[in-house]
Amino acid sequence: MGKEIFDSIDRFFGEEPMNKHEDRRCPNCRRIIPEDARYCPYCQKKFW
Ligand SMILES: [Zn+2]
Repeated sequence: MGKEIFDSIDRFFGEEPMNKHEDRRCPNCRRIIPEDARYCPYCQKKFW
């Protein structure tokens, strides 16, 4: 019984979406953009 409780706690925290990835934002328009985007889909600003 004790083990199952720890399992569910582990799953609960594991499913928390926070801090999975830091949000990447466009430095130009400050919108959240996909992590692998090479340019901003909103303002077309290129990154690196
Ligand atoms: Zn942008």
